[in-house]
Amino acid sequence: MIYYDKVSKVYPDKTIAIDNVSFGIEPKEFVTIVGQSGAGKTTLMKMLIAEEWPSDGAVFFESANIHRLNRRQMNKLRRRIGMVFQDYRLIPNKTVYENIAFAMEATGKSSREVSADVPHVLELVDLGHKIWNFPKELSGGEKQRVAIARAIVTQPDIIIADEPTGNLDPTNTYEIIRILQKINELGTTIMLATHNKGVVDTVGGRIITMDKGKVVKDSREGKYIL
Ligand code: ADP
Repeated sequence: MIYYDKVSKVYPDKTIAIDNVSFGIEPKEFVTIVGQSGAGKTTLMKMLIAEEWPSDGAVFFESANIHRLNRRQMNKLRRRIGMVFQDYRLIPNKTVYENIAFAMEATGKSSREVSADVPHVLELVDLGHKIWNFPKELSGGEKQRVAIARAIVTQPDIIIADEPTGNLDPTNTYEIIRILQKINELGTTIMLATHNKGVVDTVGGRIITMDKGKVVKDSREGKYIL
């Protein structure tokens, strides 16, 4: 589904963020990218939505080279990718309902679809009772659950979650991982980046370890691939 083919990224200030990385992600996989801050996780994820360009190598989504897509093809691809960030990125002056509705409207969904799907997706993250609240009235864990609901409501093929538990305590961290696992079981591919060892220990599945821009370990259920 996704393939990083000998990808390197050198930023203009000569920082080597990614150093000759190759790996693939299959549909419906749950892949955790683990590594210290600065290891290159975010850069790797940004390349999937062409927010960063490789200095060398190529990134493929299915058979398409992401960085060769035209604007229309790129917009289409972005709709297949849901994003979740450490800082939630909710719109403060919109309710939970409106935050999710806004994301749906941006992809051309009708108001009938919005009013049917928003409550449904909030049930999935156990937040049906907060539908009319504003972000400032929610805990960090609840805000992240709204952000996840917003990411999945357009039924993307893959969710990219960059350090989604970075601001959360262990209980909420566990809850967010559990929700991502549930979404994965429903058929969505997940790519999760974290530097948190506790997350790695609970998440299971495939773990790709990065260090200084390189993949140093790739293990599936305890089995080394590299
Ligand atoms: P991680 O997500 O694992 O913390 P990043 O991909 O954010 O790692 O960063 C990898 C390296 O690239 C770090 O050394 C970081 O300082 C550097 N870096 C990230 N973005 C930029 C940028 N826009 N310009 C220069 N260096 C950058």
